[in-house]
Amino acid sequence: METIKEKNDLLFQVALEVLSYHSKCSDYEYKNITEIEVMDPYPNMETYAFDSYALSSQGLFLMPSLVIQMTKNLFSLQRFGLDELRRFVLTVRKNYRDVPYHNWTHAFAVAHSMYLVIRSGNNRFTALEALAMFFASLCHDLDHRGRTNSWMKNEQTPLAAVYSTSTMEHHHFNQTITILQHEGHNIFSHLSPAEYKTVLGYMKECILATDLALFFGNKSKLKDIVEKGQFTWDNLEHRLVTTSYDKLLNSGDFPSSFAMPHLLTYNPIGDLEKAQGKTPIAMKDRNTAHELPAHQVGFLVGICLPCYELLQKCIPETKPLVDGSQSNLQKWSRMAQHNRAALDAMNKNSDESGKKGAKESGKDNASKSDKKDDDSEEKQDLEEKKSENEQKESIKEEEKHVDEEEKEKTENSIENSEADKEKASD
Ligand SMILES: [Zn+2]
Repeated sequence: METIKEKNDLLFQVALEVLSYHSKCSDYEYKNITEIEVMDPYPNMETYAFDSYALSSQGLFLMPSLVIQMTKNLFSLQRFGLDELRRFVLTVRKNYRDVPYHNWTHAFAVAHSMYLVIRSGNNRFTALEALAMFFASLCHDLDHRGRTNSWMKNEQTPLAAVYSTSTMEHHHFNQTITILQHEGHNIFSHLSPAEYKTVLGYMKECILATDLALFFGNKSKLKDIVEKGQFTWDNLEHRLVTTSYDKLLNSGDFPSSFAMPHLLTYNPIGDLEKAQGKTPIAMKDRNTAHELPAHQVGFLVGICLPCYELLQKCIPETKPLVDGSQSNLQKWSRMAQHNRAALDAMNKNSDESGKKGAKESGKDNASKSDKKDDDSEEKQDLEEKKSENEQKESIKEEEKHVDEEEKEKTENSIENSEADKEKASD
């Protein structure tokens, strides 16, 4: 007869079996990808104008097949077992959750951007660096839950307890390693042990660099080198800074896409925070969607454009990224102006009806019934005013919140870069 402990151990094993089955690609998926025929070269794939997001509605196996095509174009398949590559890509897809933004399509789009950067880089990166950059891009948001690191920390999640900094990014990297360790999934098995270690080290660096908290440190490091005219592709350290910096830039984690208003409408974090009695920042709040364009303008001007411009100085062929951002900026600016004008008109109307209501209530004091009406109008006006003031206060609060978050990020980045320096000097 089994003891309770033995029974629990068996149940644990069953749970592991179930988990293992569902976290890997199935035989059916594997068979399908071996049979699908995709145009080669695929139209537009060699340009930044390629629309990765349009592919998601064109069959389940198109994007995984294109990843294999990109791998072939970048590295030739001689160093890859095609079977392992197919399984790896399908399992990576399976380990992306169905969240609004950090999903498989986003991973594909990021890998495609990185593909173009490496292709246009004219062998500036070594084969191992390019290998790490491309697959890190594909894996950089594995098992993302659509929640930020600060949310994970505030909610005292087990993941945040394991990794106190760059919580999700550490998890994305660990998921990558887990997938590589599945039977028949190790795409790097053809590398020597030393090469294998180097590639995984680069991949870790690239994935961790997608944490926005590390961005400021990486950016100022690279900016300093470029401004002093010291940047050279022969220097490994310079290349590595570019690699991690470049990874962040191309991660698409900046919400610079013009499609963001759609995503914001369904932002679950804002709803969740509200349900918990908290005030989400405007970026996450569906009720303040009208402020999103202004935030995007600030983000593009303050962060994205300087980044892309800096990258362009190192890799001139990445100019389309600058052009694309400028085009996005124009669209967001127009939308922000439109929203500002609409808000001003609303405030003006509200002021005028307030004055009119006050005037009328002064005239008709003699009639009791009229007075009752005036009282309710006045009450309504007051309530509208109160609500308006509350909204203004709330906007101020959100701005303060955003400022504090930015400040916290900057402080974190400084702390992290200090920690890195200490580590480096150890
Ligand atoms: Zn991402």
